[in-house]
Amino acid sequence: MSKVLSLLLSCFIETQLAKENPANPTEIVGYFPVTTKEQAVEAIEAAAEAFKTWKQTSIDERIIMMRKAIEKIRAAENEIVHLLSREHGKPLYDAHGEIYVSLMWMEFACNEAKSALQEEIKAHENGKTILSYDPIGVVAAISPWNYPIALSTIKIAPALLAGNTIVLKPSPYAPLAAAKVAEIIASEFPAGVINVVHGDADVGVELTTNRHVTKITFTGGTATAKHIIKAASETIKDMTLELGGNDAAIFLESFDVHDERAMRRIVISNFLTAGQICMIAKRVYVHRSIYDEFVKKYIEAANRWIRIGDPFDSNTTVGPVNNLKQKDYVLGLVEDAQKRGAKVIPLEQILDQKLFDQGYYLQPTLVLGCDVHDPIVVEEQFGPTVPILPFDDEEQVIHLHNESIYGLTSSVWGKEEDAISVARQLEAGTTMINTAAVQGLDVRFPFGGFKQSGIGREYGAEGIRTYTEKHVINVPKTLDLPYIPE
Ligand code: NAD
Repeated sequence: MSKVLSLLLSCFIETQLAKENPANPTEIVGYFPVTTKEQAVEAIEAAAEAFKTWKQTSIDERIIMMRKAIEKIRAAENEIVHLLSREHGKPLYDAHGEIYVSLMWMEFACNEAKSALQEEIKAHENGKTILSYDPIGVVAAISPWNYPIALSTIKIAPALLAGNTIVLKPSPYAPLAAAKVAEIIASEFPAGVINVVHGDADVGVELTTNRHVTKITFTGGTATAKHIIKAASETIKDMTLELGGNDAAIFLESFDVHDERAMRRIVISNFLTAGQICMIAKRVYVHRSIYDEFVKKYIEAANRWIRIGDPFDSNTTVGPVNNLKQKDYVLGLVEDAQKRGAKVIPLEQILDQKLFDQGYYLQPTLVLGCDVHDPIVVEEQFGPTVPILPFDDEEQVIHLHNESIYGLTSSVWGKEEDAISVARQLEAGTTMINTAAVQGLDVRFPFGGFKQSGIGREYGAEGIRTYTEKHVINVPKTLDLPYIPE
């Protein structure tokens, strides 16, 4: 090998990172380039340059481009889904579900953008006032690994439709499919409108401090958000933060434990994507009068639905967790609960023991007999384990719900009017009745969290307007103020 070739090769190797398959970590799914600080600055500057002309385009032009991008994603769905499943570990049906939600939102954003961004003109006794929704500038979009496509497109679509340019940084734990989708979208837009950078906190810091970035839209952990808030304080950036949650599912006395479809829904709400969803039910409270029967029926339903296996096997409902760090963290929480005296019940069934042993798999578990303040109850587990606890009255369970530092989503199960009455007293961005997690998601309405679950909202018309500055143009009839002397 020539000296020049080996130098070139070593540069290539140094700047590329391998992404492994969580179901079989010895298999490399693909490589992605690590962005240097200089390249991150270049990407931001390209976005700032492109913004000068992109902001002049009409909303109709932007919608046409976005619709073409949607069609291209749809045409490439199978390829994207396979890549996502292999790099993330989620089963194929779940990866299809992620594309389904992504496209549903992108379609909604295209349909809604014109009315959401329509300027308002108010004539009044003292003249008229115009309120316009102006683009905000260069948006830094930082997304997590658990829903890498949905949580990137949730930002890309409204940001571009509102006339901004964007620099996207997917998570290094699931960078490939998100970058592929961003590349497809970018192919329909002028150069510099969408830019993708790769890396972790180091690149993230450039995005959150660079003076050209005027808005940060971040989905990820609450601890990371605290760093971002500090980093961005120097240049006072606009921010939307979608953070962690510890979502409670509350089963009232009026819940029918023999309703098998409802039991299936709660099991799915606990174990979909191996529990790695911000809005999944992470602690279950059951009225003491139905607790024993509930647990019995829950185990039956879980053992029917949970089939742990190869993400590419159509029988599999639960795949591995995405990475070793997450696996160790969840295992630690379960072991800690056991040490504190909790009973840990394994939930069925492992389809392929050999695969299970080689990948980042975790046995899904139910944890009983915990104290209400045990770490497994108050922390976000983000994995396939769930504590079920009894409660005695509504006041107590509302208190347990609301004492959390989080308030993303929650669910109340039972007779509809009883459930709605309890729901009204819960501190959460979304509360679902007789369902939970993504089964109750409605992209037409704002989504986000109370307290340390976030700032601002995505989805709905608000999820589009959040990418704008509100600009008021006042045209008063009376220019002279009565209290200012001649
Ligand atoms: P994370 O906070 O570790 O990482 C999220 C992103 O931030 C990644 O792209 C990461 O590279 C980047 N990052 C890390 N340090 C940074 C820094 N200092 N500056 C800028 N960027 C930085 O989160 P994760 O482990 O990828 O995702 C799991 C978390 O995300 C969970 O807490 C989950 O609840 C949360 N989440 C929230 C929502 C929501 O809508 N509220 C949705 C999905 C996930």
